[in-house]
Amino acid sequence: MLEANELMVFYENMLALNNISIQCSENSIVGVFGANSAGKSTLMYALSGIMLDIRKKEEMAGGERITISGDIRFHDQDITSLKPSLRAKSGIILCPERRRIFKESTVLENLKIGGFLATKAQAKDTLEYILHVFPALKRLKSRIGGFLSGGEQQMLAIGRALMAQPKLLLLDEPLLGLSPLMQATLIKATKAIQKEKKISIIVSEQYARPVFPIVDYAYILENGAAVMEGTRQELMDNPDVKSAYFGV
Ligand code: ATP
Repeated sequence: MLEANELMVFYENMLALNNISIQCSENSIVGVFGANSAGKSTLMYALSGIMLDIRKKEEMAGGERITISGDIRFHDQDITSLKPSLRAKSGIILCPERRRIFKESTVLENLKIGGFLATKAQAKDTLEYILHVFPALKRLKSRIGGFLSGGEQQMLAIGRALMAQPKLLLLDEPLLGLSPLMQATLIKATKAIQKEKKISIIVSEQYARPVFPIVDYAYILENGAAVMEGTRQELMDNPDVKSAYFGV
């Protein structure tokens, strides 16, 4: 469903994405793993198209020169130059790193804002679904977003992204800073969402271990380049991956 070829992003002369090609097929979960600064967020921005907006803003402000190359296809359409709002409309929805919920709005308001691309019936159904997959949000509907715990904020961020009716959900470091228990809850929910909503998910994380059990395929990034890729089984059987990423 999504295919990106030879993606490169430079911030001025700094190469943030180095010739990355990545694929995500229908109804699958793809992992993107890499240390701090490996290029995970830059990749998510490139796929969602937000990179085009960032480049435009920098140009207008006379800021840093950002260079983007490579091509991206979604459902066999070339979306390389498609702006982020139209990519969202076609079903590519980014749930950005560090949650970015509206901190002054309530949980329900946050979710409703996320539903701007949905019909009334879709919004109603999706809201019900979110409370089913994240039951903890039920009693928090009127709570102000900024007062939620980190894990609750992440549930809300994913919920808000679901309200936009994704076909491909991009989850940028959803587990960052959360307890192992909360991480496990979110990973279980992520798998349930993919299965029940029949969507695809690309999830990035610094540490592979908590996410690995639910990925069908994964890429390992180092300094902006994909240094390894394979199915879950292939990577699990690879001794280099084991020692470098699982510490075994
Ligand atoms: P993290 O886990 O810290 O979020 P990441 O894997 O998401 O890391 P990116 O945020 O994509 O990595 O950053 C990749 C590289 O590009 C880093 O070296 C970062 O410092 C650099 N970078 C990111 N944004 C900019 C920018 N606007 N200007 C200059 N350099 C940037």
